[in-house]
Amino acid sequence: MSDSCHMLLRSNLKQLRLPAMLAEFEKLAREAGAANETYEQFLLRLTELEVTTRANNALQARIRQAGFPVHKDFDTFDFTAVPSVSKPKVLELARGEWIEHRSNICLIGSPGTGKTHVATALGLAACRQGKRVRFVTAASLVTRLEEAQKQYQLDRLLAQLDRADLLICDELGYLSLGRGGAELLFRVFADRYERRSLLVTSNLPFSEWGQVFQGERMTAALLDRLTHRCHIIEMNGESFRFRESMKGKRGKKAE
Ligand code: ADP
Ligand code: MG
Repeated sequence: MSDSCHMLLRSNLKQLRLPAMLAEFEKLAREAGAANETYEQFLLRLTELEVTTRANNALQARIRQAGFPVHKDFDTFDFTAVPSVSKPKVLELARGEWIEHRSNICLIGSPGTGKTHVATALGLAACRQGKRVRFVTAASLVTRLEEAQKQYQLDRLLAQLDRADLLICDELGYLSLGRGGAELLFRVFADRYERRSLLVTSNLPFSEWGQVFQGERMTAALLDRLTHRCHIIEMNGESFRFRESMKGKRGKKAE
Protein backbone atom coordinates (compact mmCIF):
# COMPACT_ATOMS: atom_id res chain seq x y z
CA MET A 1 0.00 0.00 0.00
CA SER A 2 1.36 3.44 -0.85
CA ASP A 3 2.28 5.74 1.98
CA SER A 4 -0.46 8.24 1.23
CA CYS A 5 -3.08 5.50 1.00
CA HIS A 6 -1.86 4.16 4.33
CA MET A 7 -2.08 7.58 5.96
CA LEU A 8 -5.56 8.18 4.57
CA LEU A 9 -6.75 4.84 5.89
CA ARG A 10 -5.37 5.63 9.34
CA SER A 11 -7.03 9.01 9.31
CA ASN A 12 -10.38 7.52 8.19
CA LEU A 13 -10.34 4.85 10.87
CA LYS A 14 -9.56 7.51 13.45
CA GLN A 15 -12.34 9.76 12.21
CA LEU A 16 -14.80 6.86 12.21
CA ARG A 17 -13.70 6.01 15.76
CA LEU A 18 -12.57 2.47 15.06
CA PRO A 19 -9.52 2.25 17.33
CA ALA A 20 -9.22 -1.53 17.41
CA MET A 21 -9.24 -1.68 13.62
CA LEU A 22 -6.75 1.16 13.49
CA ALA A 23 -4.38 -0.65 15.85
CA GLU A 24 -4.59 -4.04 14.15
CA PHE A 25 -5.33 -3.57 10.45
CA GLU A 26 -1.69 -3.84 9.34
CA LYS A 27 -1.09 -7.09 11.18
CA LEU A 28 -4.41 -8.56 10.04
CA ALA A 29 -3.75 -7.49 6.45
CA ARG A 30 -0.38 -9.27 6.53
CA GLU A 31 -2.00 -12.39 7.95
CA ALA A 32 -4.84 -12.25 5.42
CA GLY A 33 -2.30 -11.98 2.60
CA ALA A 34 -0.30 -14.93 3.90
CA ALA A 35 -3.41 -17.07 4.35
CA ASN A 36 -4.92 -16.11 0.99
CA GLU A 37 -8.09 -14.86 2.64
CA THR A 38 -10.84 -13.27 0.55
CA TYR A 39 -11.56 -9.55 0.98
CA GLU A 40 -14.75 -10.43 2.82
CA GLN A 41 -12.94 -12.75 5.25
CA PHE A 42 -10.40 -10.04 6.00
CA LEU A 43 -13.11 -7.43 6.50
CA LEU A 44 -15.03 -9.79 8.74
CA ARG A 45 -12.01 -10.44 10.97
CA LEU A 46 -11.24 -6.77 11.16
CA THR A 47 -14.78 -5.76 12.12
CA GLU A 48 -15.09 -8.65 14.57
CA LEU A 49 -12.08 -7.29 16.40
CA GLU A 50 -13.73 -3.89 16.80
CA VAL A 51 -17.02 -5.46 17.90
CA THR A 52 -15.42 -7.65 20.59
CA THR A 53 -13.17 -4.85 21.84
CA ARG A 54 -16.19 -2.58 22.17
CA ALA A 55 -18.25 -5.20 23.98
CA ASN A 56 -15.38 -5.81 26.36
CA ASN A 57 -14.87 -2.09 27.04
CA ALA A 58 -18.58 -1.69 27.70
CA LEU A 59 -18.48 -4.61 30.14
CA GLN A 60 -15.49 -3.13 31.99
CA ALA A 61 -17.34 0.20 32.21
CA ARG A 62 -20.46 -1.51 33.61
CA ILE A 63 -18.33 -3.30 36.21
CA ARG A 64 -16.63 -0.01 37.17
CA GLN A 65 -19.95 1.81 37.43
CA ALA A 66 -21.42 -0.95 39.59
CA GLY A 67 -18.95 -0.06 42.34
CA PHE A 68 -18.24 -3.54 43.67
CA PRO A 69 -16.09 -3.35 46.81
CA VAL A 70 -14.06 -6.40 45.74
CA HIS A 71 -14.00 -8.62 42.71
CA LYS A 72 -15.27 -11.95 43.93
CA ASP A 73 -16.65 -14.45 41.51
CA PHE A 74 -18.14 -17.93 41.64
CA ASP A 75 -14.84 -19.54 40.57
CA THR A 76 -13.42 -18.81 44.03
CA PHE A 77 -16.59 -19.66 45.97
CA ASP A 78 -16.54 -22.99 47.75
CA PHE A 79 -20.13 -24.20 47.89
CA THR A 80 -19.22 -27.13 50.12
CA ALA A 81 -18.50 -24.61 52.91
CA VAL A 82 -22.20 -23.62 52.99
CA PRO A 83 -24.23 -26.82 52.67
CA SER A 84 -27.45 -24.86 53.33
CA VAL A 85 -27.00 -23.16 49.94
CA SER A 86 -28.01 -25.00 46.78
CA LYS A 87 -25.26 -24.59 44.19
CA PRO A 88 -27.55 -25.39 41.20
CA LYS A 89 -30.07 -22.82 42.44
CA VAL A 90 -27.43 -20.09 42.79
CA LEU A 91 -25.89 -20.88 39.40
CA GLU A 92 -29.37 -20.80 37.90
CA LEU A 93 -29.84 -17.34 39.40
CA ALA A 94 -26.50 -16.31 37.88
CA ARG A 95 -28.20 -16.71 34.47
CA GLY A 96 -30.08 -13.55 35.32
CA GLU A 97 -33.67 -14.41 34.41
CA TRP A 98 -34.80 -13.24 37.83
CA ILE A 99 -33.70 -9.71 36.85
CA GLU A 100 -35.77 -9.86 33.68
CA HIS A 101 -38.73 -10.93 35.83
CA ARG A 102 -38.07 -8.00 38.20
CA SER A 103 -37.74 -10.39 41.12
CA ASN A 104 -35.56 -9.94 44.18
CA ILE A 105 -33.00 -11.93 46.11
CA CYS A 106 -32.40 -11.88 49.84
CA LEU A 107 -29.25 -13.44 51.22
CA ILE A 108 -29.74 -13.89 54.92
CA GLY A 109 -27.13 -15.27 57.28
CA SER A 110 -24.55 -14.72 59.93
CA PRO A 111 -21.33 -12.76 59.28
CA GLY A 112 -18.61 -14.38 57.20
CA THR A 113 -20.87 -16.88 55.42
CA GLY A 114 -20.19 -15.44 51.96
CA LYS A 115 -23.17 -13.11 51.45
CA THR A 116 -21.10 -10.26 49.99
CA HIS A 117 -19.12 -12.74 47.90
CA VAL A 118 -22.25 -14.30 46.35
CA ALA A 119 -23.94 -10.89 45.92
CA THR A 120 -20.88 -9.63 44.03
CA ALA A 121 -20.66 -12.74 41.87
CA LEU A 122 -24.37 -12.42 40.97
CA GLY A 123 -23.79 -8.73 40.21
CA LEU A 124 -20.82 -9.51 37.96
CA ALA A 125 -22.91 -12.10 36.12
CA ALA A 126 -25.60 -9.45 35.56
CA CYS A 127 -22.97 -7.01 34.22
CA ARG A 128 -21.86 -9.68 31.75
CA GLN A 129 -25.46 -10.00 30.59
CA GLY A 130 -25.46 -6.30 29.76
CA LYS A 131 -27.40 -5.19 32.81
CA ARG A 132 -26.71 -2.04 34.80
CA VAL A 133 -25.83 -2.85 38.38
CA ARG A 134 -25.22 -0.68 41.45
CA PHE A 135 -23.61 -2.12 44.56
CA VAL A 136 -23.99 -0.12 47.79
CA THR A 137 -23.92 -0.89 51.46
CA ALA A 138 -27.13 -0.01 53.29
CA ALA A 139 -25.19 2.44 55.47
CA SER A 140 -23.57 4.29 52.57
CA LEU A 141 -26.85 4.38 50.65
CA VAL A 142 -28.67 5.95 53.59
CA THR A 143 -25.88 8.50 54.08
CA ARG A 144 -26.02 9.43 50.40
CA LEU A 145 -29.81 9.70 50.45
CA GLU A 146 -29.74 11.94 53.53
CA GLU A 147 -27.01 14.13 52.02
CA ALA A 148 -28.91 14.42 48.76
CA GLN A 149 -32.07 15.35 50.60
CA LYS A 150 -30.27 18.10 52.51
CA GLN A 151 -28.96 19.51 49.25
CA TYR A 152 -32.32 19.26 47.46
CA GLN A 153 -30.81 16.63 45.16
CA LEU A 154 -32.89 13.69 46.27
CA ASP A 155 -34.89 13.32 43.06
CA ARG A 156 -31.70 13.26 41.07
CA LEU A 157 -30.17 10.53 43.21
CA LEU A 158 -33.39 8.49 43.12
CA ALA A 159 -33.52 8.76 39.33
CA GLN A 160 -29.89 7.66 39.16
CA LEU A 161 -30.59 4.62 41.36
CA ASP A 162 -33.65 3.87 39.28
CA ARG A 163 -31.52 3.46 36.18
CA ALA A 164 -29.88 0.37 37.65
CA ASP A 165 -31.55 -2.86 36.55
CA LEU A 166 -30.19 -4.40 39.73
CA LEU A 167 -29.53 -2.59 42.99
CA ILE A 168 -27.46 -4.57 45.47
CA CYS A 169 -27.88 -3.35 49.02
CA ASP A 170 -25.32 -5.06 51.22
CA GLU A 171 -25.21 -5.32 55.00
CA LEU A 172 -28.68 -4.31 55.97
CA GLY A 173 -29.03 -4.68 59.68
CA TYR A 174 -25.57 -3.83 60.99
CA LEU A 175 -26.77 -0.33 61.60
CA SER A 176 -30.10 0.67 63.00
CA LEU A 177 -31.40 3.65 61.07
CA GLY A 178 -32.99 6.86 62.25
CA ARG A 179 -36.59 7.50 61.24
CA GLY A 180 -35.63 9.73 58.29
CA GLY A 181 -33.00 7.29 57.00
CA ALA A 182 -35.37 4.34 57.30
CA GLU A 183 -38.05 6.22 55.38
CA LEU A 184 -35.64 7.09 52.59
CA LEU A 185 -34.44 3.51 52.31
CA PHE A 186 -38.04 2.32 52.34
CA ARG A 187 -38.76 4.69 49.47
CA VAL A 188 -35.90 3.29 47.36
CA PHE A 189 -36.98 -0.30 48.00
CA ALA A 190 -40.69 0.38 47.49
CA ASP A 191 -40.03 2.33 44.25
CA ARG A 192 -38.41 -0.73 42.73
CA TYR A 193 -41.30 -3.03 43.51
CA GLU A 194 -42.22 -4.99 40.37
CA ARG A 195 -40.20 -2.54 38.23
CA ARG A 196 -36.58 -3.32 38.98
CA SER A 197 -34.65 -5.93 40.92
CA LEU A 198 -33.15 -5.67 44.33
CA LEU A 199 -30.63 -7.91 46.04
CA VAL A 200 -30.41 -7.41 49.79
CA THR A 201 -27.99 -9.08 52.16
CA SER A 202 -28.58 -9.08 55.89
CA ASN A 203 -27.30 -10.71 59.02
CA LEU A 204 -30.79 -10.37 60.52
CA PRO A 205 -33.67 -12.77 60.01
CA PHE A 206 -36.80 -11.01 58.68
CA SER A 207 -38.37 -11.23 62.15
CA GLU A 208 -35.76 -8.72 63.36
CA TRP A 209 -35.97 -6.19 60.53
CA GLY A 210 -38.20 -4.06 62.71
CA GLN A 211 -35.00 -2.96 64.47
CA VAL A 212 -33.67 -1.51 61.24
CA PHE A 213 -36.84 0.04 59.90
CA GLN A 214 -38.12 1.47 63.13
CA GLY A 215 -41.57 0.22 63.64
CA GLU A 216 -43.62 -2.72 62.66
CA ARG A 217 -45.85 -0.99 60.12
CA MET A 218 -43.08 0.15 57.80
CA THR A 219 -41.25 -3.17 58.20
CA ALA A 220 -44.36 -5.16 57.33
CA ALA A 221 -45.06 -2.96 54.28
CA LEU A 222 -41.46 -3.32 53.14
CA LEU A 223 -41.22 -7.07 53.64
CA ASP A 224 -44.51 -7.53 51.86
CA ARG A 225 -43.12 -5.89 48.70
CA LEU A 226 -39.60 -7.24 48.95
CA THR A 227 -40.57 -10.85 49.48
CA HIS A 228 -43.52 -10.94 47.07
CA ARG A 229 -41.31 -12.16 44.22
CA CYS A 230 -38.15 -13.13 45.97
CA HIS A 231 -35.56 -15.87 46.10
CA ILE A 232 -34.59 -16.19 49.72
CA ILE A 233 -31.28 -17.87 50.36
CA GLU A 234 -30.29 -18.63 53.90
CA MET A 235 -26.57 -18.71 54.35
CA ASN A 236 -25.92 -20.14 57.69
CA GLY A 237 -22.99 -21.91 59.16
CA GLU A 238 -19.61 -21.14 60.53
CA SER A 239 -17.87 -17.98 59.37
CA PHE A 240 -15.60 -18.72 56.41
CA ARG A 241 -13.12 -16.10 57.68
CA PHE A 242 -13.10 -17.73 61.09
CA ARG A 243 -12.68 -21.21 59.62
CA GLU A 244 -9.81 -20.09 57.43
CA SER A 245 -8.02 -18.40 60.31
CA MET A 246 -8.47 -21.49 62.50
CA LYS A 247 -7.09 -23.66 59.69
CA GLY A 248 -4.04 -21.41 59.56
CA LYS A 249 -3.52 -21.72 63.30
CA ARG A 250 -3.99 -25.48 63.31
CA GLY A 251 -1.57 -25.73 60.39
CA LYS A 252 1.05 -23.74 62.30
CA LYS A 253 0.69 -25.91 65.40
CA ALA A 254 1.20 -29.04 63.33
CA GLU A 255 4.48 -27.71 61.89
P1 ADP B 1 -20.43 -11.97 54.65
O1 ADP B 1 -20.75 -10.91 53.65
O2 ADP B 1 -21.49 -13.03 54.76
O3 ADP B 1 -20.05 -11.43 55.99
P2 ADP B 1 -18.16 -12.39 52.94
O4 ADP B 1 -18.78 -12.66 51.62
O5 ADP B 1 -17.59 -11.03 53.13
O6 ADP B 1 -19.16 -12.75 54.13
O7 ADP B 1 -17.04 -13.49 53.20
C1 ADP B 1 -15.93 -13.25 54.06
C2 ADP B 1 -14.66 -13.71 53.37
O8 ADP B 1 -14.67 -15.12 53.22
C3 ADP B 1 -14.52 -13.15 51.97
O9 ADP B 1 -13.14 -12.97 51.70
C4 ADP B 1 -15.10 -14.24 51.09
O10 ADP B 1 -14.53 -14.21 49.79
C5 ADP B 1 -14.72 -15.49 51.85
N1 ADP B 1 -15.71 -16.53 51.74
C6 ADP B 1 -16.86 -16.65 52.42
N2 ADP B 1 -17.51 -17.78 52.12
C7 ADP B 1 -16.76 -18.39 51.19
C8 ADP B 1 -16.88 -19.63 50.45
N3 ADP B 1 -17.91 -20.45 50.65
N4 ADP B 1 -15.91 -19.93 49.56
C9 ADP B 1 -14.85 -19.12 49.37
N5 ADP B 1 -14.67 -17.95 50.05
C10 ADP B 1 -15.60 -17.60 50.94
MG1 MG C 1 -20.70 -8.90 53.88
